Amino acid sequence: MSGDRTPSADPAPAIRAALDRQRAAYLAEPMPSLQTRLERLSRLETAVRERQEELVAAVRADFGERSRHETLGAEVFGTLSTIHWLKGHLASWMRPEARAISWLFRPGRGEVRRQPKGVVGVISPWNYPIYLALPPVATALAAGNRVILKPSELSPRTSALLEEVLSVFPDDLVRVVTGGPRTGAAFSSMPWDHLFYTGSSSVGRLVLAAASQHLVPCTLELGGKSPFIVHESYPLKLAAQRLAFGKLYNAGQTCLAPDYALIPRRHVEGFVEAVRAEVKRLYPTMRTNPDYTSIINEGQLGRLERTLEDARDKGARVVTVNPADEELRDVRKLPLSLVLDATPEMTVLQDEIFGPILPIVPYDTLDDAIRWVVERPRPLAVYYFDHERQRQRYLLDRTHSGGACINDVLLQVAQDALPFGGIGASGMGMYHGVEGLDTFSHRKAVFYQSRVNGGALLHPPYGALLDRLLKFLLR
Ligand code: NAD
Repeated sequence: MSGDRTPSADPAPAIRAALDRQRAAYLAEPMPSLQTRLERLSRLETAVRERQEELVAAVRADFGERSRHETLGAEVFGTLSTIHWLKGHLASWMRPEARAISWLFRPGRGEVRRQPKGVVGVISPWNYPIYLALPPVATALAAGNRVILKPSELSPRTSALLEEVLSVFPDDLVRVVTGGPRTGAAFSSMPWDHLFYTGSSSVGRLVLAAASQHLVPCTLELGGKSPFIVHESYPLKLAAQRLAFGKLYNAGQTCLAPDYALIPRRHVEGFVEAVRAEVKRLYPTMRTNPDYTSIINEGQLGRLERTLEDARDKGARVVTVNPADEELRDVRKLPLSLVLDATPEMTVLQDEIFGPILPIVPYDTLDDAIRWVVERPRPLAVYYFDHERQRQRYLLDRTHSGGACINDVLLQVAQDALPFGGIGASGMGMYHGVEGLDTFSHRKAVFYQSRVNGGALLHPPYGALLDRLLKFLLR
């Protein structure tokens, strides 16, 4: 269903009709069985597996150049791995969980029952257009919900293909709505039972405001400036290797990419040289290299170029790492730019970069590096490179971030059992692991009164027996 097909038409009524239809279907089947949920997950798994080559081609067409290995690894395998995990853990997760009951209320009993929320809206971005769309859909389905997905208009071929892939489900179970910001705005103002948004903080604010109109519970998966912090004892070459991989994966268009590096002052020049060598090793050429991904569109490329211009204008030193010294602009690729002597007034140290630009900030003591991080909005990830356990804990205890990865980059998101999500400016709520299943369900607390019980003691008229009991309880 296309929300923005006729520019003047209001996309809201069609979205509302789709939502109402799903809600009616949900009410007719409020608690899908384990078997039903497993079958739905298997159906999605098969569709993704069968159409993986088409998915690779669609994402590549949307980007211009997009590494096949990165699409297969991060997006297709990432999705299948999530589904596999969900299938393996669903049975135990669905079982009601007994909770302890105070002796006063025995022999009553208490339990937590996980109930599907109902109809879930999912809004996804363009940068990993499969991995940020299908795993939330799969998790919502596993939790017993019905789902409507609004993928990004900036990856239109993938969005159209996702609509086809998801057509293995009837419309009243899974539906795709395509369109841009107008559709997104209409979508986020619907009375969902849960709204799950991945994208920029600026749109995230609008989504949260729209959701508040109906008090819709909302998960926001946002971005931010994730620091890459290297302790002075850590081998520079290894740190540079991790940095080059994490920063240039998908050409930096990764919410979790290291945004800037905090490097011991005396190691800055060494780090620059080590990164230069590593980039050369990973990408000896860039122009026609299928491993080196393009920037998605002119708008994003222009934004990145302006970020560099702003840094240069304000006195930064920019070291460009373009190993074969190729012309890249016309293929919408951007070589890695290391930005030295950056100051907090520069865009490069203010906004999320989301591309192959790395400001390097020198620090003198570990506490200075920690202070730099905590004085800024809380990021999605902190990357810390240090083999010393005690210092790892010291840094983890003193910084806030959605997640963290020690001595590597990005891999925290690939752990199916670890929750994934931001904190503060980098988002709210989590998915992946049991936290994901919990996000898409209501944990209903239920107290079962027993046939024989002392409940009447609590009722008026209050008399001597309750007096004695209260005296005992409050002794
Ligand atoms: P975006 O905010 O431009 O778009 C995301 C989605 O929101 C799209 O589907 C878009 O159509 C929709 N949208 C646009 N305007 C809307 C509106 N007014 N109301 C509702 N929806 C609207 O984000 P993007 O540029 O596609 O993605 C990049 C951002 O996403 C980066 O900031 C990145 O860090 C973040 N991100 C976060 C994660 C995460 O998991 N935390 C993952 C990937 C990207």
